[in-house]
Amino acid sequence: MSDRYSVSCDCGSVEMVLIGEPRVRGHCHCQDCRTLLDIPYHSVTAWNPDQVEIARGHDLLSQFRHPRLSMKKVFCSNCGEVIYNTNAMDWRVVSQHLIAKNYGNTLPDTLRSMSHFHYASRLIDVADDLPKKP
Ligand SMILES: [Zn+2]
Ligand SMILES: [Zn+2]
Repeated sequence: MSDRYSVSCDCGSVEMVLIGEPRVRGHCHCQDCRTLLDIPYHSVTAWNPDQVEIARGHDLLSQFRHPRLSMKKVFCSNCGEVIYNTNAMDWRVVSQHLIAKNYGNTLPDTLRSMSHFHYASRLIDVADDLPKKP
């Protein structure tokens, strides 16, 4: 039986279910994430498209395809919450913070970051014990 994680947006209109183990879980410091989302780094879980189901609110999902990057944001058109973004491999990249909000502000242990990546492109240093990949 695969793990399943239920994640809703702020207004509750959209519910997404994440199934199994993410491909990647970590903190991404790349410029593309910063450009797309306007955040200093992106704490993510990344999933194959077939691991992600929209359980509710499909008709409220909007998407924005970045004009230059091979990335898009998929968000709730009611509250504006980004449900996931995609990368060049079309993985579903889901914010750890969004998941944690749905679990009493505690990220499930099975989704915790394993590493930092694109750390050489970082804006800010992070002092923790995780491996830091350039
Ligand atoms: Zn919403
Ligand atoms: Zn990135």
